[in-house]
Amino acid sequence: MKKILLIATGGTIASREDGHGLSPTATGEELTESVPEIAGLCELDIVQPMNIDSTNMRPADWLRIRDAIAEGYDSHDGFVILHGTDTMAYTAAALSYLIQGSAKPIVLTGSQQPMGAPFTDAKLNLYQSLLYALDDASRDVSIVFGGMVIAGTRARKQRTMSYNAFKSINFPPLALIRTDKIVRATLGGGAVPDPVRQEPIRFHDAPDERVCVLKLTPGLTPAVFNLLACDYDGVILETFGVGGIPAYGTDEGDSFQRAIFDWVDSGRTVVMTTQVPEEGMDLGLYEVGRAYAEHPGILKGGDMTTEALVAKTMWVLGQTRDPERVRELFYTPVNFDRTDG
Ligand code: ASP
Repeated sequence: MKKILLIATGGTIASREDGHGLSPTATGEELTESVPEIAGLCELDIVQPMNIDSTNMRPADWLRIRDAIAEGYDSHDGFVILHGTDTMAYTAAALSYLIQGSAKPIVLTGSQQPMGAPFTDAKLNLYQSLLYALDDASRDVSIVFGGMVIAGTRARKQRTMSYNAFKSINFPPLALIRTDKIVRATLGGGAVPDPVRQEPIRFHDAPDERVCVLKLTPGLTPAVFNLLACDYDGVILETFGVGGIPAYGTDEGDSFQRAIFDWVDSGRTVVMTTQVPEEGMDLGLYEVGRAYAEHPGILKGGDMTTEALVAKTMWVLGQTRDPERVRELFYTPVNFDRTDG
């Protein structure tokens, strides 16, 4: 019988109302006892590195989850992480970079309703996550939620209440799960992990937390980069459309172009992406983006999600500050995170 390590971290799935608002108090053991249908599927070990609302999840917590997987790696066939939905897409992306080449599946799940709620989605999500983690063709990091399997780098929380909370962005879902049947995208289409691929597992070290996201809004002043420089070395810039950056404030001292080029020239990192949810960017298409597209020090997010860009930039800057190496690591696809190479 296969052996799964269940890593309980909190979230709505573990939450109860105590008069101050929902907060996670149920343990991993209590959650599994609430779903008798999973008995007999596999041997289950349970660890609980934390019990928190995922709003409070930080990069240091990603490392605690990574450590739990590393410690249990040889003695288990797969891993299921119970996690709050609000930052699950970030954690799934982070684990995709911190644990690469895993032949054993690492599945994140949670729920929109607590395990104790009358019409909860928690039971089916937990059950289907275990099914997916037990399947021989599963590997690497993914999210199983609402009957859909999404690559760990491609998820976004799209709905705050409905049970189909997550969407696979700019990439097909890896599989659908109908009750207890896994329906995978066709093999050979590039959308599913190749079960026979042989790669050594690689656990990576500390991500650099000095990375933030800046969303352009009409009228935003380029001086914002001076404020960010105190606390951040990497900025993911969510531009307009396929890649527009305002050209107003064109004096030498206060243009976006000056602020962004200075940021890069000072050894910091800028990643360009779009605030449009789907289809990625083409930075050079309009005049308002062309100068940035041609700047070799500016990284292009392509069709990656902002969540994955945050996690990847943190992971890259945690490895190196050498600009050549940063570029090389950034543009190397990991767990289906980008399709433009
Ligand atoms: N606030 C909760 C969390 O992210 C929401 C959820 O789990 O659905 O932990």
